Amino acid sequence: MSGSDEPEMVVGADAFTDRGAGLEVAVVGAGAVGATAAYDLAREGADVTLYDRDTVASGASGRAAGICYDAFADGLDAEIASDAIERFRAFSGDDTFPFVECPYVWLAREGDADRADAIREQVRRMQDNEIVALEMDADALADRFPALRTDDVAVAGIAGAAGYTDPAKYTACLAAAATGAGGTLETETPVAVRTDPARVVHPNGEVREVDAVLVAAGARTKALLADAGISLAMKPYRVQALVADATLAEPMCYDASGDFYLRPHADGVLAGDGTEEREADPDAYDRDADPTFADDLLERVTHRVPRVADGDLERAWAGLCTATPDRDPLVGQIDEGLYVATGFQGHGFMRSPAIGARLAEEILGGAGIDAFDPTRFDGDESFDVVEGMALDRD
Ligand SMILES: Cc1cc2nc3c(=O)[nH]c(=O)nc-3n(C[C@H](O)[C@H](O)[C@H](O)COP(=O)(O)OP(=O)(O)OC[C@H]3O[C@@H](n4cnc5c(N)ncnc54)[C@H](O)[C@@H]3O)c2cc1C
Repeated sequence: MSGSDEPEMVVGADAFTDRGAGLEVAVVGAGAVGATAAYDLAREGADVTLYDRDTVASGASGRAAGICYDAFADGLDAEIASDAIERFRAFSGDDTFPFVECPYVWLAREGDADRADAIREQVRRMQDNEIVALEMDADALADRFPALRTDDVAVAGIAGAAGYTDPAKYTACLAAAATGAGGTLETETPVAVRTDPARVVHPNGEVREVDAVLVAAGARTKALLADAGISLAMKPYRVQALVADATLAEPMCYDASGDFYLRPHADGVLAGDGTEEREADPDAYDRDADPTFADDLLERVTHRVPRVADGDLERAWAGLCTATPDRDPLVGQIDEGLYVATGFQGHGFMRSPAIGARLAEEILGGAGIDAFDPTRFDGDESFDVVEGMALDRD
């Protein structure tokens, strides 16, 4: 499919420039990150082709929960997340995708002193970084959010700059905006990547040399780069989620002691739980939820939101996230003319509007994000996949 088949779409009030004029860029992967970067490069005048081996949002972005917040203790993480939320707000609308403002609550239960301390510390650091965050005890939480059961809560953090969206719609919108800004979309086109010079190889063997290749191929990024002779310290891992048909207006909630999250959803409540702590194969992983997953998770969700007991399971599924040794993503230049974006540890969708913009800036000659520099690892490090939704203690 070529760009000419796509509807013209313009999002937000971003400036269009010719800073990227003359620059040819191949973006591999039309997930939230690749689509955003392609849009930002195209609106700066670069000649961008956005490839996907399948369809737009056919990877993790089409299977994500769509929870977005700026509840990060680390200043850089919070800055990126805040920028992303601003863009979600600016781009969303009736003609694009919904972004529903909704407070985010994260909590620890009585008897879970470690996690309770981590939440108090995280709220304090967020406040130091001028991120809006509140600490609440069980009584205050019950007054503010009557849908939640709170009698076993030791402490909760509340982040105001938060909301949820439909990740597939966001990604489709940004891919269409990229073509609207002059880019080309090539779906059902699994490309290979080669280095020195950076180029992509089409399935028919055609080789395209470009000024820059951005590999934002989600769980397949490691294999794609390995095939080009580059080792990446990243491991894909499997996570699961479900939708049940209960009514919930707010909040979004992460029960750290119960190891699950939930949010309101157009069809009821969307919930998900932890990480399968081993490397998954993107070609062979089970896309269906495990047989016991829904019953087990719904029991925990019902404990926190009792009204979910009245609803039935609508659907459940699995998808892949990506882990790194230090739980920070790999974002930026990894070789001459070659850029990468992966390893988001379950938080890639909420950061995609800001990560895409920063990648575009780096490809246009600006500075990258030092802390996420992919060359900080050799690629052959041995590490374990650890819980993606864990409390932010950095
Ligand atoms: C169940 C679940 C819930 C989640 N919930 C959240 C959440 O609430 N909030 C959040 O922030 N994150 C969440 N995540 C994580 C989030 O989905 C990812 O971090 C994010 O979507 C990654 O986006 P991406 O663009 O990097 O990769 P992807 O969306 O995986 O996109 C990669 C694309 O590359 C394409 N591709 C691969 N190989 C090739 C090739 N050779 N040629 C061309 N194209 C190729 C794929 O087809 C795919 O479309 C969740 C993930 C799952 C699975």
